[in-house]
Amino acid sequence: MGDTSTVSARSGTPAAPPPCSAIVTVGDELLYGETVDTNSAWLGKALTGLGLPVAKRWAVGDVASDIREAVDAALATADLVIVTGGLGPTRDDLTRDAVADLLRAPLREDPELLAALERRFQARGYDRMPASNRSQALVPEGATVLPNAHGTAPGLLLERRERAVVLLPGVPRELRGLFTDHMEAWVRRRFGERLLAIEHRVLHTTGIPESRLSELVEAVLPPSLGPVSLAFLPDPLGVDLRLTVRGVLPQEAAAHLDRLEAILAPVVAPWRFEAKGGDLAEAVVSALRSRGETLAVAESCTGGLVAHRITTIAGVSDVFVGGVVAYANAVKQGLLDVPEVVIDAHGAVSAEVAAAMAHGVARMCDATWGVGVTGVAGPTGGTDEKPVGTVWYAVAGGGRVVTRFARLPAGDRAAIQARAAQGALHLLHERLVAGETPELNSA
Ligand code: AMP
Ligand code: MG
Repeated sequence: MGDTSTVSARSGTPAAPPPCSAIVTVGDELLYGETVDTNSAWLGKALTGLGLPVAKRWAVGDVASDIREAVDAALATADLVIVTGGLGPTRDDLTRDAVADLLRAPLREDPELLAALERRFQARGYDRMPASNRSQALVPEGATVLPNAHGTAPGLLLERRERAVVLLPGVPRELRGLFTDHMEAWVRRRFGERLLAIEHRVLHTTGIPESRLSELVEAVLPPSLGPVSLAFLPDPLGVDLRLTVRGVLPQEAAAHLDRLEAILAPVVAPWRFEAKGGDLAEAVVSALRSRGETLAVAESCTGGLVAHRITTIAGVSDVFVGGVVAYANAVKQGLLDVPEVVIDAHGAVSAEVAAAMAHGVARMCDATWGVGVTGVAGPTGGTDEKPVGTVWYAVAGGGRVVTRFARLPAGDRAAIQARAAQGALHLLHERLVAGETPELNSA
């Protein structure tokens, strides 16, 4: 799958290594944990998106020598170093001095900047600018001033041969504003074609544990993925596979992702669903819509959660007819025609009752498909035979009913309900789109 070195677009000869960035955040409050460092997270996304990934980060307090050391180390690592914080007008704001000192660039007062600061204070109704703000007009020799339309401290960009340092204010709104106003264009200009293409693609799965999915996937992966990497992102409702390609020419990125997706697709097919927002309900609704079919749901332990998941999607009235929360046996019998003898013989949490609920609600609502779900959400009500987490799903339609058993991890009632709703949607999705799940179909 190709090698990972970058190649210049025109000549095909090896180019300089891909450029990267580094971040230094400054402020005692970040180290004390009083302020959460949201600037790094924001910059990380913004820089990665531009193709200038962050190689390392430093966080230091308001100590001049620590700032100097961190910026020095960052400059040894990265082509662009972004320093945020410590540009304010007060005595603990040391970034400007420390970096000027490190780069041997004496500070000089910039008359235009001073005039602009004074105007800003006048415009806000002050007679005069506080003396401390004068420090914000100090500019290291040779630095480019990045005007701050969002506050008082301007950004300062210092270039040193192949490398650059930019000082930006710590206030998140100002940082974002300055980065967007000035640095995006600068990064594109400065690094141009050398910027790495980084693209992601996500394959959503549900109904298979991360460890099992990983075994299946590892068995088909080639020894080297080249410029593509694969991450498993699990949450209680499923596992996303995130494919990332980096370090290739932008026009080649999609082909690399296609190649890995083609390897993974047959393996994950039984559990895969496609949804822009990552919600299985979206996939169910679009499958029903494309088939011109309708759905009704009968829910016991999920208390309406399946219906809620479906109706969260706007405009579903063309495919969703309605549902019944059949909690008491009397409702299962009275509204859904679940025979009393079936409940007596098998219990309310059983394949037979789930199937009868699915049938009953489809008939009652005159829907193509009926879903039934019944289980023990806990924390009480479990027995040796049917412990908390026991769930039965059924999907009726197309002339037959399919049931499935699940034993969900006991403990958290809300989590059991959420997983049970997902399990019901999964069984339906499987019948609409994906085909039968091979090994987990224990019903
Ligand atoms: P400074 O530029 O050091 O005067 O910081 C001004 C304010 O910005 C601080 O009081 C913090 O609340 C906030 N701040 C500074 N650094 C960060 C950061 N890395 N992430 C989020 N907020 C920050
Ligand atoms: Mg500070």
